[in-house]
Amino acid sequence: MMGTLPRMLKLRAVLGRHQNLCWNFPSSGSETTILSKLPPWTSAGLLLAVNILPGRVVTDPDLLESNNEDWLKSVRGSSEVLLRPQTSQEVSQILKYCNSRNLAVNPQGGNTGLVGGSVPVYDEIILSTALMNHIRSFDSISGILTCQAGCVLEDLSLYLEQRDHIMPLDLGAKGSCHIGGNVATNAGGLRLLRYGSLHGTVLGLEVVLADGQVLDCLATLRKDNTGYDLKQLFIGSEGTLGVITAASILCPRKPKSVNVAFLGCETFEQLLKTFQLCRGMLGEILSAYEFLDSECMRLLNTHLKLANPVRDCQFYIVIETSGSEPTHDEEKLHNFLEEAMTSSLVSEGTVATEDSKIKALWSLRERITEAMAHDGYTYKYDVSLPVEELYQLVTDMRERVGGRAKSVVGYGHCGRWKPPPEHHLSGQRPRPLGRH
Ligand SMILES: Cc1cc2nc3c(=O)[nH]c(=O)nc-3n(C[C@H](O)[C@H](O)[C@H](O)COP(=O)(O)OP(=O)(O)OC[C@H]3O[C@@H](n4cnc5c(N)ncnc54)[C@H](O)[C@@H]3O)c2cc1C
Repeated sequence: MMGTLPRMLKLRAVLGRHQNLCWNFPSSGSETTILSKLPPWTSAGLLLAVNILPGRVVTDPDLLESNNEDWLKSVRGSSEVLLRPQTSQEVSQILKYCNSRNLAVNPQGGNTGLVGGSVPVYDEIILSTALMNHIRSFDSISGILTCQAGCVLEDLSLYLEQRDHIMPLDLGAKGSCHIGGNVATNAGGLRLLRYGSLHGTVLGLEVVLADGQVLDCLATLRKDNTGYDLKQLFIGSEGTLGVITAASILCPRKPKSVNVAFLGCETFEQLLKTFQLCRGMLGEILSAYEFLDSECMRLLNTHLKLANPVRDCQFYIVIETSGSEPTHDEEKLHNFLEEAMTSSLVSEGTVATEDSKIKALWSLRERITEAMAHDGYTYKYDVSLPVEELYQLVTDMRERVGGRAKSVVGYGHCGRWKPPPEHHLSGQRPRPLGRH
């Protein structure tokens, strides 16, 4: 699901760092006061930044705190400068300067990454895309959206919904994550089964390289076989090759009919057999097949007060169908559910067709990470395995850690040929906050 490039590799590989960089800014000092306290080359750098980004250079430690800490609160950096460019040209100027001084830069989107890549290791300059949130164009004939990297995924979804389209990706962090961060992490998410990965739906990218060069691969053509497809290198590169400043994305039409079924079964084998049945009987309208185990449900109940919509089971399945003909889709879903129940693959189930109920069922899957965060320190594994071996890892992990963890849970996307499960171990914290 998420990329896993080690944080150190990222910083060393691309943007370099200055070993002696140490800035101590007064918390409420004006930019002029700060400049006078800095060594000449550093002050020149900050002066440049202040000139390029008037009012968009953050040095207040209180304001910087959340940017220095990751979503899971597992790693923390100590950056003292956050830059908030609005345009690709500004990003280019910043990187050009930093590259010439060997200053390390950490690109940051919505800071929802779960592998620590979005926050500095030491005192790298944070380059935030938060103000690069302008939609450049949307072509309703081709469904192609072109926007800046800092657009929040949910904002893009709302914008498109009003135009009868949807984003090809959706994930629990949609309210905060940026499209640039999604591309940088090659985020998969809940719609991957239906619309494929970003390697297919991203048609073009604009990227600023470490030396400030702007690479314009912002094609808006679905078919483009003119030479190398350079943009692919940046999808999943996690900030190691440059800063993504804009993207063009192929967006599907909004489905006319969406149904969500929430089912319960007793074994993982039944869950996999249900998936087989589902692929056969729902075919082209199947858009998601996700699972969670009973431990996840317990944490959702305990920490988020989300109620289980069915009777207690060992495993739960979220199935979504998206199509263009409500009667046809409902009939197909009904036939599938009847078959799954009569063949005793699933023992429990409920179906939602209304928006609010669909959202409530989806939140049981989307908010697991949040529930885990409330339970204690989360040690998160993100691996891809053949689907039939998926849950064995959780069982083995439970045995291995025994009582040293408060809970070991398994959940994730099952609707892929080789789905990546997410395994969480919450409870003991293996190491203190800080660098690694
Ligand atoms: C509740 C929750 C659910 C999630 N569900 C999923 C899921 O289903 N599937 C999945 O794949 N992931 C999932 N994630 C993790 C996912 O990778 C991120 O949420 C999202 O893709 C990161 O976007 P962001 O803008 O927050 O990036 P950040 O966290 O800010 O950054 C992530 C990485 O990308 C780099 N980066 C950010 N912006 C840029 C840019 N413009 N140019 C170059 N590099 C950049 C950063 O340096 C960092 O290495 C989930 C996270 C949460 C908290």
